[in-house]
Amino acid sequence: MSIIPYGRQSIYEDDIDAVVSVLRSNFLTQGPVVPAFEKAIAGYSHAAYAIGVNSATSALHLACLALGIQRGDIVWTTPITFVASANCALYCGATIDFVDIDPQTYNLCIEALSEKLEAAKKRGGLPKLVIPVHLCGQSCNMEAIFRLSQEYGFKIIEDASHAIGGLYKGMPIGNGQYSDITVFSFHPVKIITTGEGGMIVTNNSSLARQVQILRGHGISNLEVEMHSRPKDEIWNYQQIELGFNYRMNDIQAALGLSQLNRIDEFVKARRSLARIYDKELAELPIKIPWQNPDSYSSYHLYPIRIARESQRKVYDALHSGGVGVNLHYIPVYRQPYYESLGFKFGYCPEAERYFHETLSIPIFPGLKDFEQQKVTELLKKVLA
Ligand SMILES: *Cc1c(COP(=O)(O)O)cnc(C)c1O
Repeated sequence: MSIIPYGRQSIYEDDIDAVVSVLRSNFLTQGPVVPAFEKAIAGYSHAAYAIGVNSATSALHLACLALGIQRGDIVWTTPITFVASANCALYCGATIDFVDIDPQTYNLCIEALSEKLEAAKKRGGLPKLVIPVHLCGQSCNMEAIFRLSQEYGFKIIEDASHAIGGLYKGMPIGNGQYSDITVFSFHPVKIITTGEGGMIVTNNSSLARQVQILRGHGISNLEVEMHSRPKDEIWNYQQIELGFNYRMNDIQAALGLSQLNRIDEFVKARRSLARIYDKELAELPIKIPWQNPDSYSSYHLYPIRIARESQRKVYDALHSGGVGVNLHYIPVYRQPYYESLGFKFGYCPEAERYFHETLSIPIFPGLKDFEQQKVTELLKKVLA
């Protein structure tokens, strides 16, 4: 029996052809396709600049570095996210802390953020950076977070790994109206894929250039950025920073560019699956994902909220029925590595409740009607 996963990629013949044509070309990396994909993503998300990298994790790391995050700085994010949203701060030597989630949207809670900022201000320990995560593809309340950033003086990176193709107040996620940088993931379970890959979008030209330098070893070959050297020495490039090899390659970009042609179709398919779940599951003793009217969600995930006593039972019943339900996410600070940093059980009570009551059921464009029916029937049976 094949398992129905919670998410998977949709690959069409066009995608395969696009990848094969790069394989037949002169450049597998640093050719023309990465810049073409970057331009297309910038256009799609209404951002001035887009820089392709080999994962969203790398994108988050470079975004933090470009914003000057370093040892001694404090970064805040939500505990209900993938570990990469927090790890990026630790890569830079900064201190990470977590703001509890909103019980309705499961995104970072604005009231909790506001209170924590006020307390941090009194104590002297304000964050230099806050990383809101658009969980499941539903935008955070960016207007409110931006207002707080003006008041308390922090930078904002939107972790939009789930959310490309979504809108906030009618505008594409990534347009940068309420943040410094937005990051997208193209991992296969995400909205569009490049196999592995990520993108940084921003409207700030110097942040964009900094990220570009850092993804390629910290090397520049621009006259204005290079240090002066004797004229008889050949300096066709210089390493001016400590950078990384975080480049996206043309094979990945070709897949991404081809996938981008169908992004709106993918999001529509996810949303119509969500509407079916909303309807089919309405009578069950569960809570379906609440939708903020300011947000048009890309529905990367469809988390159902179950009584704590039933979570394990539902998880096991669906798995033995061939449905790969998953949990997004274990609060980051509960991970053993984070516990070793001193975080304790119960640190964010709302996140803990979510952890004990939530499961993500399958949602992806290729999910067949009969497969979705199987999911809803199994849920009805186990929760009856
Ligand atoms: C998937 C994901 C990432 C990491 O993306 P990669 O491209 O796999 O590195 C970061 N943050 C969130 C919220 C994610 O879901």
